[in-house]
Amino acid sequence: MKAKSIIKNLFPDFVLRIYLNYRRKKELKEYSGSNVECPICKSKFKVFADFGKEKRKNARCINCGSLERTRLLWKYFADNTELLNSNSKIKLLHFAPEKPFFNEFTKLKNIEYTPCDLFPNKYNHYKSNTKITKADITDIPFDDNTFDVVLCNHVLEHISDDRLAMAELFRVMQNGGWGIFQVPIDYKREITYEDPSIISEAEREKAFGQFDHVRLYGLDYKNRLEESGFKVIADNFIEHYSDEELYKFGFVKPELIYFCEK
Ligand SMILES: [Zn+2]
Repeated sequence: MKAKSIIKNLFPDFVLRIYLNYRRKKELKEYSGSNVECPICKSKFKVFADFGKEKRKNARCINCGSLERTRLLWKYFADNTELLNSNSKIKLLHFAPEKPFFNEFTKLKNIEYTPCDLFPNKYNHYKSNTKITKADITDIPFDDNTFDVVLCNHVLEHISDDRLAMAELFRVMQNGGWGIFQVPIDYKREITYEDPSIISEAEREKAFGQFDHVRLYGLDYKNRLEESGFKVIADNFIEHYSDEELYKFGFVKPELIYFCEK
């Protein structure tokens, strides 16, 4: 029984890994060039690949798989924080670890890295010895004041009690620590739209933009974070870049970065 379930779990990851490797090799040739540059893996290409249901142009890095917002955050880490080059060890908790970040964080000597997710098996295709801890964001299995930095991107829009999740993120963060918890924001909306009676996948897709989202955040997202105790800067960091640079790094406006301090 056990062996059977092991094989069942391994097989799709094995196939997925072969497929991704095959696609990568094929695309590395197809996209060779130097018009765009991934700030994370430093690779250069003719253009980034299309990505998403609506086929966003210039989106996916062929080498590391980074997307627009992942690359923007990486630049932010590099320019505005010491995360990537601190002199002392940084204890980092990372929910729903994006692969391009995971690959770099596991290599960086200054980071004591704890990637986690409610479903760690989703990450079996990540090739690494670093364990992904099982963690429910509304009941995080770590002590108070444990982490210097907490990252949790595009998670809270899936969580029914996001205020409880924010309280938990605050609790496990060190005093003086910081975190970034990006969510999809409708920048034209002042007030977050949520309605717990909307439950079916089709209705959620229509109301909140994706079948498994439980709300659509507006500009009051910042207030919600502040109510959980964080000091929040809504940083329009992307404004630093010219149109040429936006294209070169494959960034998309608008995107405010919510820098949260405890
Ligand atoms: Zn890359």
